[in-house]
Amino acid sequence: MSARIEVPKELLKRYATSAPRYTSYPTAVDWEKDPDKAFDPADYPKRLAAAADARPEEALSLYTHVPFCAELCLFCGCNVQISRSDERRERYLDAVESELAAVEATGIHRREVKQFHWGGGTPTSLTLPQLERLFRSITDRFRIADGAEVSIEVDPRVTTHEQVHLLSDLGFNRISMGIQDFEPDVQKAIKRVQSEEMTRGLIDAARQSGMESVNVDLIYGLPHQTRAGFARTVETVLDIAPERVALFHYAHVPWMKRHQNAMDIDAMPGAEEKLDIFADAIAAFDRAGYVYLGLDHFALPGDELSRAAAEGTLHRNFMGYTTQRGREMLSLGVSSIGEIDGTYVQNIPNEPEYVAMATGGGFAAHRGHTMSAEDKLRRDVILELMCNGRIDKRSVEANHGIVFDETFAFELKELETPAADGLVELLPDELRLTGIGQVLMRNVAVVFDRYLRERKARGENGQQTFSKTL
Ligand code: SF4
Repeated sequence: MSARIEVPKELLKRYATSAPRYTSYPTAVDWEKDPDKAFDPADYPKRLAAAADARPEEALSLYTHVPFCAELCLFCGCNVQISRSDERRERYLDAVESELAAVEATGIHRREVKQFHWGGGTPTSLTLPQLERLFRSITDRFRIADGAEVSIEVDPRVTTHEQVHLLSDLGFNRISMGIQDFEPDVQKAIKRVQSEEMTRGLIDAARQSGMESVNVDLIYGLPHQTRAGFARTVETVLDIAPERVALFHYAHVPWMKRHQNAMDIDAMPGAEEKLDIFADAIAAFDRAGYVYLGLDHFALPGDELSRAAAEGTLHRNFMGYTTQRGREMLSLGVSSIGEIDGTYVQNIPNEPEYVAMATGGGFAAHRGHTMSAEDKLRRDVILELMCNGRIDKRSVEANHGIVFDETFAFELKELETPAADGLVELLPDELRLTGIGQVLMRNVAVVFDRYLRERKARGENGQQTFSKTL
């Protein structure tokens, strides 16, 4: 995708609506609700066995969720358990091991793993022996492929250099951490005080231990953020020079995450200032030579995500952008979501219930969605747009047996306004996002979301469901 992005504020204002982030399509809120048609969790082992038998040579992605954090950051939107109890972590690891044993019995473990990720919560809230135990219990069963992405999310406030060295010795080659904002006022307001020194120290340790890639997360839209203050944070981040940067818009969803009510909304930047903060940050990363992957992700030119973006081979799944082709993703742990054999599956989101279910019977799946042929078609179109900024009509036609302009006649009509606004080019053989279209790609992608269209027809506007696009 191209760099040098001009961001006209008038357009940003007009397109700042609520929309899904499309790590999946349909999004989890639109999974089948009709109990007669809904995915039956009891079928999950059969799905795993079918995926093991039908595609033994295809690589898998493997995600493990570790939900524990020592303290709650007020902006947090993740599934977390605030606990410092070692015993509780041991019980959780017992449960993950039971889940792994059940998974192994289906034969899916014979497929090689090309993308391996631990997220949370804070995986490094585990002790050194617990980290090693979890890693060994997975890799005793699953084989990690040569050159696989092996990544982990850490919190610099609780992660020791010893942990980072152990993770590197185990084979982790990528590390991701939240920064959000370095300004003291902002950090106090979100209850996440994390000094620049602490963050730099951990990144240095990761680099010295041989980790290939560092990702940092920033968030704009938080209390006390200003244009000048966030520019200072971006400047510091540019000096640290992480290989990847995610610049998220703060998702204020207090109806789902009640603790967010404890933040002072009056101190949050107004819509105008937020747009300035965002546009300034994009321009700064652009000037510093980062490749804009689209949505809210940047990478240095040498990073493999940038190379994949240039070659049009970027992919997207529940873990975000990846270079790994192949959709099937096995997920372990509380609340984790996977995609196996054309079906999305989520484990139960409550940690004590997960522990009881997994320890008792191995599996803890509680909901899911089996994709229809139309779901798969729309998923492919949306993800291609989100990953590679274009839709090749002929390849969609060949893969799905449709005539693009006929099947998507309604959508093409709907896209005339975004096309006139310069977000997307509607060409005979392809749809192509422009530079500003990369920033506003969710606004283009939603046009292909049939479930969202049906929601709107029912009078729901999505404001209480999805985060704002900007
Ligand atoms: S460390 Fe991360 S997961 Fe834990 S509460 Fe803070 S933002 Fe949420």
